[in-house]
Amino acid sequence: MTSYGLSKTRTTARIPLRGGVSQLHKQAVLNRIRPAPLAEKSSQTATISHVQSPPYTQLHLGLFEIGKALGKGKFGRVYLARHWGSGYICALKVLNKDEIAREEAEKHVRREIEVHSNLRHPGVLGFYGWFHDSRRIFLILEYAAGGELYRVLQSVGRFSERRAAKYIAQVALSLDYLHGKNVMHRDMKPENILLGLHGELKLADFGYSVHSPSNRRETLCGTLDYLPPEMLQSRKESYTRAVDQWTLGVLTYEFLTGKAPFEDSLPMTRTRILKRDMKPLPSFISPEAKDFVDTLLVLEPSKRLPIKDVLHHPWIVKNTILSN
Ligand code: ATP
Ligand code: MG
Repeated sequence: MTSYGLSKTRTTARIPLRGGVSQLHKQAVLNRIRPAPLAEKSSQTATISHVQSPPYTQLHLGLFEIGKALGKGKFGRVYLARHWGSGYICALKVLNKDEIAREEAEKHVRREIEVHSNLRHPGVLGFYGWFHDSRRIFLILEYAAGGELYRVLQSVGRFSERRAAKYIAQVALSLDYLHGKNVMHRDMKPENILLGLHGELKLADFGYSVHSPSNRRETLCGTLDYLPPEMLQSRKESYTRAVDQWTLGVLTYEFLTGKAPFEDSLPMTRTRILKRDMKPLPSFISPEAKDFVDTLLVLEPSKRLPIKDVLHHPWIVKNTILSN
């Protein structure tokens, strides 16, 4: 292993985060860097070859100092990293090619890179570039210093209505951006929402997202608790971006109570989602918040509150106006 290898002996101490804040503004440095050309034509790498741009700075692991592990993903770990040349702090998501091949997930990974690399919005985790070696694929991502929203929610149990509404408004803005680019996220959950340095939300993990100009898809994906009824129908039915509106309702419920609305054993969760058999919101929740959840958790996709109208709902307005 080289001195830049992903050795577990490396710790955060090797990356002085002092100055990291100003370095975060050096985003442009990494934005200009493009992936290296494919070194070999293995079956695993060939499938992602068409998403690369012409290289004018070759990316490789040696350009980065690797720090502590930030989390564990399906195909590897995510590490804190620093770009030697600029001092820029970022996150390096490492995907093991063997594991991707074993799970036959090449398409999934290709889609994550294709979709994520085309997004640029303050509410979406920045994607700065990618490269690969014979064993791994590396995604260079914006470092979300606040970690997972899931951990924050767990530590406080549930959010106040004001905090929940502010978070939901931010997610809605990000979704509006995604939908404007014909992208459905399809895997929104507190684990996939990260927090920036100032507590701002960043939608992350585009492994299940999809670019769908026709606004219709036919695959089943995502996490059961957050899946809308139309994606659970046994009869294969296509579905639309309204899937993310349902999930926004599930998230709102979870932010307000600490629990997902249909949480149960696996078969029961499924049955309850299909019947919209939701645990009633507790009595301390305001009528406006209840109405907000009710307008999103609607069985008929076309009747769900449109994302554009979320910011105008009285519950959101009441809790996000500046004088509040
Ligand atoms: P999963 O299937 O479990 O969602 P995944 O392979 O899709 O895994 P990610 O969700 O992208 O991987 O990353 C795994 C975890 O690593 C995240 O839940 C988070 O805790 C951490 N993480 C990922 N990216 C970042 C980042 N940019 N900044 C800080 N932490 C991150
Ligand atoms: Mg994830």
